[in-house]
Amino acid sequence: MGSKVEKTEEEWRAQLTPEQFAVCRMKATERPFSGEYDACKDEGIYQCVCCGTELFHSSTKYESGSGWPSFWEPTQPDSVRLETDQSHGMIRTEVLCNTCDAHLGHVFDDGPPPTGQRYCMNSISLQLKK
Ligand code: FE
Repeated sequence: MGSKVEKTEEEWRAQLTPEQFAVCRMKATERPFSGEYDACKDEGIYQCVCCGTELFHSSTKYESGSGWPSFWEPTQPDSVRLETDQSHGMIRTEVLCNTCDAHLGHVFDDGPPPTGQRYCMNSISLQLKK
């Protein structure tokens, strides 16, 4: 596990597109079925778009039908960090990049075997390294 990546809001704004900034740093959600990785079946490793940390292998990606890229397991238990999210009148578990605290999406208990987890991610917070 490497060291934390910490940048100011201005530094993130300069590095990211406005859409990436809104999701990754301001916790917005991309529209379902709109992201480039929703239906992607290419092989590789999905990295954090903010800091490059390896987050998910394509071998753990599956079609959830949600409209967002979904995985049943992160690359390492500590590549992501979980937090309780009580926004929008719901109690959900937020998934963040453990290295730079980018908002990635949420995790739910309705995923497939072997973990039963559904890591429901925003495409825009990821970059696929083939
Ligand atoms: Fe990151």
